[in-house]
Amino acid sequence: MRNSKDASRHGQRRLLNERLRNVRPALDQIPIGAHPYSARKTCNPSPFKVSRYSGKDEVMPAQKPIIMYDAPEAASLKTVTGWVSADGRFFGSNEDLARYSGATHRRCEVNPEHKIYEVNSYCKECHQARRRAKFAAMPIKDWSGEPLVFFDSDQYFFDVDSLRDYLIESDIDLADLKLCICEPNYPSQIDPADHFCDDLPEDGEIRDDQLLAAFDLLNEMIRQSEPLSWSEGEYVAQLPQSLIDEIAAARVTP
Ligand SMILES: [Zn+2]
Repeated sequence: MRNSKDASRHGQRRLLNERLRNVRPALDQIPIGAHPYSARKTCNPSPFKVSRYSGKDEVMPAQKPIIMYDAPEAASLKTVTGWVSADGRFFGSNEDLARYSGATHRRCEVNPEHKIYEVNSYCKECHQARRRAKFAAMPIKDWSGEPLVFFDSDQYFFDVDSLRDYLIESDIDLADLKLCICEPNYPSQIDPADHFCDDLPEDGEIRDDQLLAAFDLLNEMIRQSEPLSWSEGEYVAQLPQSLIDEIAAARVTP
């Protein structure tokens, strides 16, 4: 398979070499130091076309004309217009990027009354409004002992005692507790073929039965595992009224 591919590649290269031989005299006709563009203008409108010399109708792959270092065509002095940021960087026609690079703050596009914010940040007031809307749209569910977390926070509660103590100590409005029911994060099972894909041959498979059996056992343990962690879920927790009353009473009479 590989050999026949190499052979055909070799054949293609030989063909290319033959064609190049046909073109070579054309290149040799260009006097050293002369620019090929001028050659094209004066004596040969298309010096690199095979057809002119071989009689074939084919065009050679584009060959770059020779431009001498000191030829006027090599470079010319031009005046360039473009956006330059306050820190001196050139951005061409990209005014937006230049302004982004040169500015420190920008104004909220949704509501110009909002506090200005750093260009690489976001409008905090709009963000908070979006999060408030997200919480308001979340469905409510009776709490049945799952871990809880305050919405958009790292304050977790894994048992009722720590929750009760925290709420008694705090002055959070008990009628407006933004507590969410958490959802468990379980460990994912491991596919040995995926795990070793960098080391296996292409389309290859693991043939060692002992190794596969070990993965089966590992995956069995993974399926039985307790959650590795908990994350904010999609429900707002409705605490039992008895618990709310208990906390309210404890706040009044410490
Ligand atoms: Zn805003």
